[in-house]
Amino acid sequence: MAKIQAIRGMNDILPDQTPVWQYVESTVRRVLGQYGYQEIRMPVVEHTELFKRSIGEVTDIVEKEMYTFEDRNGDSLTLRPEGTAGCVRAAEEHGLLFNQTRRLWYTGPMFRHERPQKGRYRQFHQIGVECFGMAGPDIDAELLILTARLWSALGLSDHARLEINSIGTSDSRKVYRQALVAYLEQYQDKLDDDSKRRLTTNPLRILDSKDPATREILQGAPSLDDYLDDESRQHFEQLKAMLDAAGVAYTVNPALVRGLDYYGKTVFEWITDSLGAQGTICAGGRYDGLVEQLGGKPTVAVGFAMGLERLILLLETLELVPEHVNNQADVYVTAMGDQAVAPAMALAETLRNELPGRIVVSHCGGGSFKSQMKKADRSGARFAVILGENEVAQATAGLKPLRDDQPQQEIAQADLAAVLAGLL
Ligand code: ATP
Ligand code: MG
Repeated sequence: MAKIQAIRGMNDILPDQTPVWQYVESTVRRVLGQYGYQEIRMPVVEHTELFKRSIGEVTDIVEKEMYTFEDRNGDSLTLRPEGTAGCVRAAEEHGLLFNQTRRLWYTGPMFRHERPQKGRYRQFHQIGVECFGMAGPDIDAELLILTARLWSALGLSDHARLEINSIGTSDSRKVYRQALVAYLEQYQDKLDDDSKRRLTTNPLRILDSKDPATREILQGAPSLDDYLDDESRQHFEQLKAMLDAAGVAYTVNPALVRGLDYYGKTVFEWITDSLGAQGTICAGGRYDGLVEQLGGKPTVAVGFAMGLERLILLLETLELVPEHVNNQADVYVTAMGDQAVAPAMALAETLRNELPGRIVVSHCGGGSFKSQMKKADRSGARFAVILGENEVAQATAGLKPLRDDQPQQEIAQADLAAVLAGLL
């Protein structure tokens, strides 16, 4: 019978890959903790309507990327394609937003039916951050400063550059949209098919087009910057000043518009040039209108999400994963002969008590000296502890270095932890 395989674009993360995931996750957790961000956990499935109403009907995600299905009651449900909508829903539902400020983060799988390729999957993982109730550019700046700290903690400072833009309020975008459409309609025949379609549905996204002919036409297009309302302009100027003061480098990219409808004012992306086309590792912006749009009291908000697969791919590509990030054993405890099994287990427990930061693996399943030593070697351990019937009788243990040519020593069991502590 044919074996059943994983779904295309949905990856297993195997034991040799999980240490780097844990390293990235724990680094992010630590940095977010330093700034007082609190974790929130939402369900993976939400009502389809939530995403339609927040992300927007005519965005790539809602038009063609969602995993939507009917549950047994006939309700339309969707596997979350991103976390912001669910986070807003949860925060509002539980009264976290009324008259207070919040700094929240979450992590977990997201689902989009895209063409799988390097750095683009159908199940992928994000760490997302959402801040509520703070209207000024200071919180926008904080988000960028903390991401810069994160890149520094991961050794990525030289490999991630920041692009920012302001897309103004929805009113100023409306006026700009008309001007952009009027301009682009003159060149309608020369636009790529997606852009032609977007001319009537979501014209701002055309600014994002990668098509060379469309890009050429865009050179002469009116600039969003000229249509920015005063408040957005001031917000943006203050943000830039705060980033300058904090020493966070950025470039202003007037074509940066982001693909989701809910953004306004500040938008940003952290981009790497080391991953080819899938170079955006972190993206976000301000979405002051979304909470109200989803039925809540008007609540300003700003956030971002970073893609963990891309971040990890980047660390691996640049060989920036620290050497200690692996799940290899430090000590492998063998038991030669039935009489040694229980004492070896007890000795391993003592070592775990005394060396709590170390990985002590007990050999299980019996076998010859040779096969046990082979497993000890494969565990990555630097030392094997060898317990045979003689050692048990004398309360000693053999200590054998596995990574260099040093001879085996016999050591009193009572001294073993202290000796290992000195060697590891
Ligand atoms: P892209 O332009 O690459 O399609 P996006 O604008 O759709 O990205 P967002 O919705 O802003 O991305 O998601 C934030 C981050 O999540 C992205 O910057 C990226 O790192 C990651 N991401 C998005 N889609 C995928 C995917 N299909 N597979 C892996 N990571 C993804
Ligand atoms: Mg996308």
